[in-house]
Amino acid sequence: MSTDVTSSKPPLRVLISGAGIAGPTLAWFLAKTGARVTVVEKSPSILPHGQNVDIQGSARVVIAKMGLTDRVRECNTTEKGTRFIDPEGRPFALFPVKKGSSASLTSEYEILRGDLAALLYQATKDHPSVDYLFGTPIKEVVSNDADRVEVRLSNGEVRDFDLLVAADGQWSKVRKQCFPPASVEVVDKGMYAVYWTIPRLPGDNDWWNIYQALGSRLITLRPDPHGTIRAMFTFMPRGETQKQAWREASRGDRKTRASLVKTELAGAGWQAQRLVDALDQAPDFYFQAVQQIKMARWSSARVVCLGDAAYAPTPLTGMGTSLAIVGAYVLAGELSKLAAGEDPSRALDAYERAFRPFVEETQKLPFFVPSIAHPVTAWQRRLFRAFAASVARIAAIPWVLSRLHHDDDEDFPLPRYPRFEDREEGFASSAGK
Ligand SMILES: Cc1cc2nc3c(=O)[nH]c(=O)nc-3n(C[C@H](O)[C@H](O)[C@H](O)COP(=O)(O)OP(=O)(O)OC[C@H]3O[C@@H](n4cnc5c(N)ncnc54)[C@H](O)[C@@H]3O)c2cc1C
Repeated sequence: MSTDVTSSKPPLRVLISGAGIAGPTLAWFLAKTGARVTVVEKSPSILPHGQNVDIQGSARVVIAKMGLTDRVRECNTTEKGTRFIDPEGRPFALFPVKKGSSASLTSEYEILRGDLAALLYQATKDHPSVDYLFGTPIKEVVSNDADRVEVRLSNGEVRDFDLLVAADGQWSKVRKQCFPPASVEVVDKGMYAVYWTIPRLPGDNDWWNIYQALGSRLITLRPDPHGTIRAMFTFMPRGETQKQAWREASRGDRKTRASLVKTELAGAGWQAQRLVDALDQAPDFYFQAVQQIKMARWSSARVVCLGDAAYAPTPLTGMGTSLAIVGAYVLAGELSKLAAGEDPSRALDAYERAFRPFVEETQKLPFFVPSIAHPVTAWQRRLFRAFAASVARIAAIPWVLSRLHHDDDEDFPLPRYPRFEDREEGFASSAGK
């Protein structure tokens, strides 16, 4: 038996904190089950920021179930592939996009995070069972027990719900309030990633260009579908003084962070100076300490974590967005199996039982990642270049290509939930916008 709008019992009332990727995906599937969904977002509107994110394997199947595959394709960043370049900008290892194959770091479904977030919002915002409240984060979780969860919003309103979902990202406030610090492990990968947008120049191309400067610095430039270029700088601080400076910057404001980035970029070669010159005028500036989140348990009474809030895997895995999408599908699917009025704990347990093994596997990174891509010395860089060039040559062999894992394959076997196989309910006017 499943939750039913036609039942005499009221529908499940769910509050989602965070309108990024996980939040709106969950809202979409919950609305199909007849739940009443409220999404609260800290920002005044959907954040347009963020660079390329990957939609891999089973996440593509979930996007297809939502009827959004064509919209995702329309937002393609137009990237032709990934290439490693030398200080003069000459490529020495090319990985062009190959349909359906994982032979390149660029996938066929290359989409900007901000475009994907907007698309998921568009697909849910007009559904009669979904309400969005922007600029209205949760100020306090007042109580959370077996019967209900009560929150105070930033506008002073106090409201209660059957379930609160923390989909508010890697630094989740809800997680901090509802789970003891000892139950949350933050695994620091010793790396920082900084993203910003710069004007496109006539000499730019449509590849993801990756340049390794020495001293653990890496610069990349890639195209977007909006006529600008997306710059990324990643860095692994060395020595206690440097580490301390970056740790402090991650708690500081944009000015402090930008000043540190400029200092480190100075003299890095290739187009480093162009990035420095454009930084202060950039409309966006996203600074991230690359850290994984590992929780002992994803739920506590009527609060459950989803996406980066529960299991941020880092961009090094290329799987943050896919975990958020598939996790939302599984959580909504398990909730759809509840009897009307039933306590959600059975569904929360089932979500974690089904999805945790895949999450744990995804979070495993080889010991040499990310240091292999951040050479300190010239000989380390020469070694990496020889390695990357050989891999590119091998990956171009048709027989090897045919043996590679296919991006469309289901990497996590998706449970089938009868409520999701129905025709679309209430989405007709929004999905195609
Ligand atoms: C601005 C931004 C830029 C990003 N850029 C990249 C990128 O370039 N490359 C990459 O690989 N990953 C990027 N990420 C992370 C990536 O989106 C996630 O790893 C992944 O998609 C999982 O999505 P999520 O919905 O769990 O978290 P997120 O996408 O981080 O979404 C969390 C949402 O919660 C909102 N939020 C935060 N705090 C609160 C609060 N207290 N109350 C209410 N809402 C709150 C945020 O504004 C955001 O909308 C970015 C995230 C953000 C927020």
